[in-house]
Amino acid sequence: MNKILIVEDELAISELMKMALEEQGYKCEVADDGEKGANLIEKNQYDLILLDIMLPKIDGYELLEYIKQISEIPTIFITAKSQTKDKIKGLKDGADDYITKPFETEELLARIEAVLRRYNKGTEIQKIDNIEINVVSRTVKKDGKEVLLTPKEFDLLQILIQNKNFALYKETLYEKVWGEELEFETRTLDLHIQRLRKKLDWKDKIKTIYKIGYMLEV
Ligand code: CA
Repeated sequence: MNKILIVEDELAISELMKMALEEQGYKCEVADDGEKGANLIEKNQYDLILLDIMLPKIDGYELLEYIKQISEIPTIFITAKSQTKDKIKGLKDGADDYITKPFETEELLARIEAVLRRYNKGTEIQKIDNIEINVVSRTVKKDGKEVLLTPKEFDLLQILIQNKNFALYKETLYEKVWGEELEFETRTLDLHIQRLRKKLDWKDKIKTIYKIGYMLEV
């Protein structure tokens, strides 16, 4: 689930955005000034930030500068200013998109989705190099061609992707995919890993971590 931070001092607008986004399944938090926004960004992980420009304490431009220093969270400016020069400034400063108040909910949602997709954080499709994983239809494509995975192989792949670049214990992987404790003798997990490596051509990507288990390195 994608988590979005709304930094907006007009309560009517932030409430409206929050409602619309939560209806779409996003998790939302609201800060009503720039300082609160900065504090939340420091403490929490967000997938995207909706950022007003005219804000009390720290304005949107300053906050964006701060965001870009500490993270790569995609940011969309939300502002009442519609002059071209402000748009250009916002995008030059590193905002990913720009939306002018008043806006339609549909437009806001479409822009959020587009930005998340650009960052590969879309809810449906994840991409790793030439492999495309659709978590809704549970299908996988390699170079645009479908690769057939068994349900367990797909579950295993998803867990590896969710924990990419982290070594996972065999016990943990097994429990997450098969929902039961790993029995000492079973080779089931290893066999599934071998199948995934072969089907996706990921011999180098799915690493065996000595005495621990496996890791997807991307
Ligand atoms: Ca404002």
